[in-house]
Amino acid sequence: MPMLDQEKIETITQRLRKANSVTVLTGAGISAESGVPTFRASDGLWEGHPIQEVATPRGWYRNPENVWRFYHARRANVATVKPNPGHVALKQLEDRFGDGFTLITQNVDGLHQQAGCRNVLELHGALREVRCTKCQRVEDRGLEPLDLMPICTTCRANVRPNIVWFEEALPELIWSKSVDATVASDVFFVIGTSAVVYPAAGLIPMAKRYNPETLTVEINLTRTDASEMVDLGIYGKAGEILPIILRGI
Ligand SMILES: [Zn+2]
Repeated sequence: MPMLDQEKIETITQRLRKANSVTVLTGAGISAESGVPTFRASDGLWEGHPIQEVATPRGWYRNPENVWRFYHARRANVATVKPNPGHVALKQLEDRFGDGFTLITQNVDGLHQQAGCRNVLELHGALREVRCTKCQRVEDRGLEPLDLMPICTTCRANVRPNIVWFEEALPELIWSKSVDATVASDVFFVIGTSAVVYPAAGLIPMAKRYNPETLTVEINLTRTDASEMVDLGIYGKAGEILPIILRGI
């Protein structure tokens, strides 16, 4: 018989009270509660654009202006949205655990940092950042509108969005820090992600591999591929469930 949500929340809060290390993996679901449009893998379209055209190295090579137009629109959207109670609750979790807290996100919108989180590992890059195609320098340009084809302030070459596209590798240092935080965690949360994108999804089984005592928890709107990999799942809005958990610890 499945545990009632109240019992699950009790299990989570009890474990959190004894925990030293808490790691959270978030995905598009938590940002969707703030109004950030999400990519739908079902039809391969992102806001009407085929992903091959706007989110792959080949798309960039063929038509960089088209790619930039897409990212200018995403940047403009993110400039209008605000963190929701889910983001705020995660910031409070960080306040509680200090250096023992790590937030790994697949989101590129910066909403966790906007909510005040400091220890954020952005696995897929950031919309506010650009990267030079020549000298590789990464610059934070905020969310102000940019030129159609923005250029590097150092070497004047074209810059691209500092986003990990499909077919590209994750940034190595950020990935290795994510693995370290995952293996060290006493409680590991998966929030707003269906865990279909590897290697990020590989973090979920990794959380228990080195420490079987680690409690793994999924918070998603509905059951996902992650549901089979975790100890317990609570289904509903992160913005409603996380504040309840926070009140219990
Ligand atoms: Zn440069």
